[in-house]
Amino acid sequence: MAAALRGMKAEGGWGVVCTEWCSIHPSSDDLPHPNAALWSDRHIKDQALMTDAVHDHGALAGVELWFGGARSANHYTRETAYDVASIPNLAGHPYQPRSMDKSDIRNLRHWHREAALRAKAAEFDIVYVYATHGYLLSHFLSAETNDRTDEYGGSMENRARLLRELIEETKEAVGDRCAVAVRYSVGGDDGESDTLTTERRDCLEMLAEYPDLWDININNYEREMGVSRFFESGSLEEYMAFVKSVTTKPVVTVGRFTSPDAMASQVRRGIVDFIGAARPSIADPFLPQKIFEGRLEDIRECIGCNICYTGDGLGTPIRCTQNPTMGEEYRRQWHPEIIAQKDSDSTVLIVGAGPAGLEAARMLGQRGYRVMLAEATRTLGGRVTREAALPGLNEWIRVRDYRVQQIEKMNEVEIFRESELNSEDVISTGADHVVIATGASWRKDGLGRSHPFAYAASELQGNILTPDDIMDGQTPSGHTVVYDDDSFYMGGLIAEKICLTGQQVTLVTPADVVSAWCDYTSERFYVQKRLLELGVALQTGFQLVSYNGHDVRVVNTYTDRTLAISANALVMVTARQPNDRLYRALETRWQEDSAIGIRSVTRIGDCEAPALIAASVYAGHRFAREFDIKPDAEMNPRYE
Ligand code: ADP
Ligand code: SF4
Repeated sequence: MAAALRGMKAEGGWGVVCTEWCSIHPSSDDLPHPNAALWSDRHIKDQALMTDAVHDHGALAGVELWFGGARSANHYTRETAYDVASIPNLAGHPYQPRSMDKSDIRNLRHWHREAALRAKAAEFDIVYVYATHGYLLSHFLSAETNDRTDEYGGSMENRARLLRELIEETKEAVGDRCAVAVRYSVGGDDGESDTLTTERRDCLEMLAEYPDLWDININNYEREMGVSRFFESGSLEEYMAFVKSVTTKPVVTVGRFTSPDAMASQVRRGIVDFIGAARPSIADPFLPQKIFEGRLEDIRECIGCNICYTGDGLGTPIRCTQNPTMGEEYRRQWHPEIIAQKDSDSTVLIVGAGPAGLEAARMLGQRGYRVMLAEATRTLGGRVTREAALPGLNEWIRVRDYRVQQIEKMNEVEIFRESELNSEDVISTGADHVVIATGASWRKDGLGRSHPFAYAASELQGNILTPDDIMDGQTPSGHTVVYDDDSFYMGGLIAEKICLTGQQVTLVTPADVVSAWCDYTSERFYVQKRLLELGVALQTGFQLVSYNGHDVRVVNTYTDRTLAISANALVMVTARQPNDRLYRALETRWQEDSAIGIRSVTRIGDCEAPALIAASVYAGHRFAREFDIKPDAEMNPRYE
């Protein structure tokens, strides 16, 4: 699966395609996080699948040799982890690594060399030494964690000794055929001391000419991998702008770049020699080819939502909001740019122009079908248009804009705005097939994650609002309680939006932390930080009991302790109700009455099952891919 995904990026024009972190030894096992491994010769053929796929399209393949140290709990292998000292497991697991003695260091160097030789045997072109992100080598480099008294501790030169040895030994082992790169961080940790920042620079200067390429980032992964809500693209520049002045070797970094102008500017201004990209290459594997061909308007820009990153914490394959084919290159054999041409002259009516409807229209249009896209409101985009207006989410509008731009170029797709259809309207269009993509609405009745049934009407009285009301422009006045039993991004955003209007806000959630699922998108810390900085009062671990229009009563989820919070309004961020009335009205009718002439009615996206925007885009895409195609063995996903 990973080989097909990476081959696709190479086909899209990226010059170098790298693995994710690649463990060199079983004592550095990161499961359930999905990572590559070169533990033994048997792994060579696995990695060669990727290098072959990448070389087939003329790109170079890179491998990021990695040793986790105190971040590895080794849940799978049950090996003891090693690090510079026996510090706590930094991923929060109840294991500590063993403090490395001289023979452990010798072993590590041997394992690294062996893995490098395997990488060469697997035909990699660039072999990395991974010295960042709070893994083993960062701890050797840092005076804060390295308290050794031998030649690997003390002075900067001593603390950098292991990194230098690994670079030298990797070059000696594979340098005849492979370039050796170092992934290195220059700072950027929240609260990092000036001394540490200076030391990182001193170390880089000391090793400046050792590797063939410097791949620069910052130690704080949540910041480097920052969501667009909190971090702008190119946010690493302030930390790494000095690097090219201290080395003659080429330098690369990342920055969630999607604008060719921003990329060119970094190169022109001497910040980097190469543009690195993870998320932009996920959202659009063909970004380089589109730049090369001058098709800039066809670039599908990353929105910085980090749904791609959730697979890391969940231990599942990668998914992307903007690119529904990501992770499906092998499993469903989807190509991001190519889709089968139409199989019939059927016409399709799509009701609802949210992400599901827009994506279905785009892909059916690309296949050559005649499509009518009806949208109740004047604005296209559905929930994306509404959510992108929330604080910090403006980049999300790209989900709509990319699709509308593509559709507007197609003669096959006709858009009907301000057309709220009922079942008679649908029938009167004469469409052969009907797709209902009418979305979902936030519930008012309190049904949520911790209370999976509605509250009694007597328990909820007074000014009760939903995120839809707030997004529609309603602003409660006076103290407002936002009750978040959804636990993803919406609760925090609604609290922030109301607070920014000058109102006092208390966010109550039955969860132990604010916006718990945002841990998977790497932004939870920043959500809570933002709310605290704005002065939003937080009550975690409290479930809603009732609201009488004056007091919101809540009960502690561990004890029976209740609280009464006086409030003028209560905003319920709990669950969503599918808007499936139209689907229900047509559901059986089209089958029972053949005179209507409709051959299928399908619901997709939130109207079928409310979920992520990524799920709606995927649902629209999948409908269009499979439409009119007879199911056969080839259509079945490969789950192996
Ligand atoms: P999804 O995420 O599944 O695409 P959204 O809620 O984002 O769902 O979008 C649904 C869209 O459907 C909204 O733009 C809404 O205005 C539109 N819609 C809902 N009901 C109708 C209807 N009866 N006729 C036309 N459009 C509708
Ligand atoms: Fe970008 Fe979101 Fe796709 Fe990740 S999931 S690549 S952040 S659009």
